[in-house]
Amino acid sequence: MNIVRTIGELRTQGRVGLVPTMGAFHEGHLSLMRAARAECDTVVVSLFVNPAQFGEPGDLAAYPRDAERDAQLAAEAGVDVLFVPGAAEMYPEGFATWVDVDTTGGEADARPGHFRGVATICLKLFNIVRPALAFFGQKDAQQVAVLRRMVRDLNVDVQLRVLPTVRDADGLALSSRNARLTSAERQRALALPRALGAARGAADPVAAMRAALNGLEPEYVELLRVGDATLLTAAARVGSTRLIDNVVLEGELA
Ligand code: AMP
Repeated sequence: MNIVRTIGELRTQGRVGLVPTMGAFHEGHLSLMRAARAECDTVVVSLFVNPAQFGEPGDLAAYPRDAERDAQLAAEAGVDVLFVPGAAEMYPEGFATWVDVDTTGGEADARPGHFRGVATICLKLFNIVRPALAFFGQKDAQQVAVLRRMVRDLNVDVQLRVLPTVRDADGLALSSRNARLTSAERQRALALPRALGAARGAADPVAAMRAALNGLEPEYVELLRVGDATLLTAAARVGSTRLIDNVVLEGELA
């Protein structure tokens, strides 16, 4: 596996698959890398903790980083190129152009500017790596909806693949931020996936979800359309850690 830090050093061939990440790899990331490996000739994983998509400065500073372990895991997953640009490579002096996808609800309202940062970095990565396919997790379903919109609106020549959310045995969706939970917080956090499960099939899933949260105060509980699929999405803060999760209620996230 080649570890590449500058755009000029990137080399690919054949059908290219891109997995954009912010590192601190877990099985969720690895499932995307394996899916890319199965479908592509060159697998590029980008590892960039994108300052533009963080709101609270403390969140960016506390974001887990483990470059050596990440490189090892990516190599084991069969990744060809680990692209680890510095901030100056992605946002050179004078940077002034942003992709602003008009979207509301859920994370868009809870984290103003978040999707602008996500859409901008993803379009840059698509232009730099030129992948035929890009792989994303259902865990961040609204991100997929925003990127689908951008790809359609700006005629970006890439196909987006969405892979199911990988969970721990207790049901909690894997997230780099889970490392910050104490064991008591983790127990409380389990209300999130449990309530999503309980709401599935209910006549009013939003109300059913709220009722099943076991005292956990949600930031929002909302229905989200992604293509033909309808999802139930929620966010909640447990201690200082903010968690998001979702389930598909109807249709398929293809
Ligand atoms: P991140 O490093 O958090 O930006 O995530 C990089 C990619 O991994 C995104 O497409 C996420 O949706 C995806 N991802 C994160 N957590 C999971 C998970 N538990 N299962 C599947 N994909 C995930």
